Amino acid sequence: MPQIPVAVLGATGAVGQRFVSLLDNHPWFKVVALTGSERSSGKPYGQTCRWALSNPMPDWAREMVIVPSSPEDSDARIVFSALPSHKAKEIEPVFASAGIAVCSNASAYRREADVPLLLPEVNAGHIALVQQQRQNRGWSGCILTNPNCTSTGLTVSLKTLQEAFGLKKAFIVSLQALSGAGYPGVPSLDIIDNVIPNIGGEEEKVEWEPRKMLGKLSTGGIELAEVRLSAHTNRVAVVDGHIVCLSVELGTEVSPEEAAAAMAAYQAPPSARDLPSSPRPVILVRGEADRPQPRLDRMTGNGMTTVVGRVRPDPLLHLKFVTLSHNTIRGAAGGSIYNAELLVQESLL
Ligand code: NAP
Repeated sequence: MPQIPVAVLGATGAVGQRFVSLLDNHPWFKVVALTGSERSSGKPYGQTCRWALSNPMPDWAREMVIVPSSPEDSDARIVFSALPSHKAKEIEPVFASAGIAVCSNASAYRREADVPLLLPEVNAGHIALVQQQRQNRGWSGCILTNPNCTSTGLTVSLKTLQEAFGLKKAFIVSLQALSGAGYPGVPSLDIIDNVIPNIGGEEEKVEWEPRKMLGKLSTGGIELAEVRLSAHTNRVAVVDGHIVCLSVELGTEVSPEEAAAAMAAYQAPPSARDLPSSPRPVILVRGEADRPQPRLDRMTGNGMTTVVGRVRPDPLLHLKFVTLSHNTIRGAAGGSIYNAELLVQESLL
């Protein structure tokens, strides 16, 4: 199959760099353009991007001259958006109406009724909303979104429990990595020796987005899942990898062993199982008393696997456990690439 030309919008930031790294040698996609703000447009990527990943910047990216975020500036058929949300709001529809598929990390369109909010291993079928979106908006392109990075691992684990036992409510406490705040992110003097118990707008996202992804596709969009979620979100001094501690009430009481077995056995829907970025496995359940840990476990399954541990009884609800998900890979760039692969496989490009 000839490679599909793609572009990365906002390629110099924390998520943009992950896209550049993950798209290096991708079997289906070839990067033909990188975009940035006025600060970096017209300059070579290698000169303007403060590369913060441990693996080296690919050579093809180093020499690429950054272009503005407009459809005329590249021949891409798919764009991966790592734009700030207010910019995504105005720029993404311009690409979609020009016939280009936008796979976005930004929150701007996640709540729209005809826009899929996708984790392919959870709700691959919701991609059918693309047809409704094209009819409603007259676009030949489309916008697909992936959820907030904290909703990601959380929703994957809740999906397995919802499917196996039913799900009523969850109490959620996050410990979120610094890269989730973008580059340069939180000032070092604010976060070293500290925990910040507030991340603007995050709790609202974490309490709503899983309900859309766990909901049912219907003719008018998605019926939100009837699940009550309460979230506390905290920034901690970790570079990558969001931990979420959860207590859950299920449809029926089950033992920790049964819940752990259901999570370990969970498989993505068939259409999302064998794509280049499919998580293998979807969930890894660890048995040690002190795992998962961000530094040790975030690269499980190349950063696409959700790691679960400490599944145990909960004195308030039924069960409690811990999840870990790599925020700039599964929770951002890797997730968008997985969505684009599903779009191509479903012949919706
Ligand atoms: P970031 O590090 O602040 O990067 C923002 C990027 O947007 C930079 O490349 C910047 O380019 C570019 N940009 C800013 N204004 C622009 C404009 N007018 N036109 C074109 N490009 C512009 O942010 P990030 O953490 O990568 O986040 C990107 C998006 O992904 C956000 O919407 C965020 O909410 C979402 N997200 C982030 C994470 C995460 O873990 N970090 C996870 C999920 C979703 P210049 O460098 O040229 O100014």
